[in-house]
Amino acid sequence: MTHTAVSRDTFDEVMVPNYNPPAIIPVRGEGSRLWDQQGREYIDFAGGIAVNVLGHRHPALVKTLKDQADKVWHLSNVFTNEPALELARKLTGRTFADQVFFCNSGAEANEAAFKLARKYAHDHQGAGKHEIIAFNQAFHGRTLFTVSVGGQAKYREGFEPVPAGISHVPYNDIEALRNAISERTCAVVMEPVQGEGGVVPADPEFARAVRELCDEHQALLIFDEVQTGVGRTGSLYAYEALGVTPDILTTAKALGGGFPIGAMPTRREIAKSLNIGSHGTTYGGNPLGCAVAKAVLDIVDDPELLDGVKRKQQLFVEQLEAINQRHHCFREIRSAGLLIGAELAENLQGQAPKFLAAARDLGLMLLVAGPNVLRMTPSLIIPDEDIRAGMALLDQAVARVLEVENCA
Ligand SMILES: *Cc1c(COP(=O)(O)O)cnc(C)c1O
Repeated sequence: MTHTAVSRDTFDEVMVPNYNPPAIIPVRGEGSRLWDQQGREYIDFAGGIAVNVLGHRHPALVKTLKDQADKVWHLSNVFTNEPALELARKLTGRTFADQVFFCNSGAEANEAAFKLARKYAHDHQGAGKHEIIAFNQAFHGRTLFTVSVGGQAKYREGFEPVPAGISHVPYNDIEALRNAISERTCAVVMEPVQGEGGVVPADPEFARAVRELCDEHQALLIFDEVQTGVGRTGSLYAYEALGVTPDILTTAKALGGGFPIGAMPTRREIAKSLNIGSHGTTYGGNPLGCAVAKAVLDIVDDPELLDGVKRKQQLFVEQLEAINQRHHCFREIRSAGLLIGAELAENLQGQAPKFLAAARDLGLMLLVAGPNVLRMTPSLIIPDEDIRAGMALLDQAVARVLEVENCA
């Protein structure tokens, strides 16, 4: 078990250094537990960054993938395939959308959405209507177009020149958007809850006002639900609970439950602008990804499972509040279903990575959202006892970090 041909050192040797993984390498997962090369066990509150909605190795997903692997893996979009059509039928049946474009990731879904918004405006009102408005701190992916629309300048630095016609305004600030939007705006893009930006939910009145401003200026409203979609917030898509319907939706991460897939559902009238040959991808909508995603949606789109998300959210928040009572380590605990952020107290600003490392040393996988927020995006079916056990480890991790802080 301990002898393995590859280790963390291999990473520095042969991988481009854009990531900085810890020393341990997980090799196996089951439910909300992971095991590393040495056989050490971890409780998984990270869920592959809001991806493993049904945990690791869910039997129905494993079976679906194996069954499809025995039929056909890949055809390209020269042909259509049954799993893609079945998944599209499911997605359009369960959302406002009439038609779907499939791709392989969140960034690709957003890339398609931004291109479509420009093309639609171009088709109907001419090239002048091309501006996209997004929000500060927003995250939409890492392609050049999506980092340009994203609201974090550090992801664009060094990659200039970036595409033009994009502006940013503060999130949850309707006056700022009112001042920025114009007849040149083709789309406004927002996350219903900013995920990477620190787990910041949209105020419902703000979301409604964004919809109204878009309608007044004939701009499309794009909801980036790459992180919030597929049950994460307690409804299949977060827009349902907000009571605001976008024109274009983007979904990925949890959609494949760990198998790479992205999708862009939209209305037929808008979809028309992606006419034959205007956009495409080789792998997008491949049978393996679509078969698994259909199985994920069939399981997640269940009132009982979604009620469970709300109940588990409460358990997470109660436990975090109890930790905060003991250690006074958090300034605010924010959550939308099982997208949970605990913002560190003033005296601990910038220290989130230390908490992450301490938790991992004790056997708990967490995430950060920026330097000040501990983020948790566990499986939507994580057992309550794993939540309690993980929180006991987090309590110890917080105690350890604070001990070191106080001695320093
Ligand atoms: C993760 C994320 C993306 C990018 O998705 P990738 O699959 O990494 O390309 C886009 N938008 C949001 C809101 C995300 O959380």
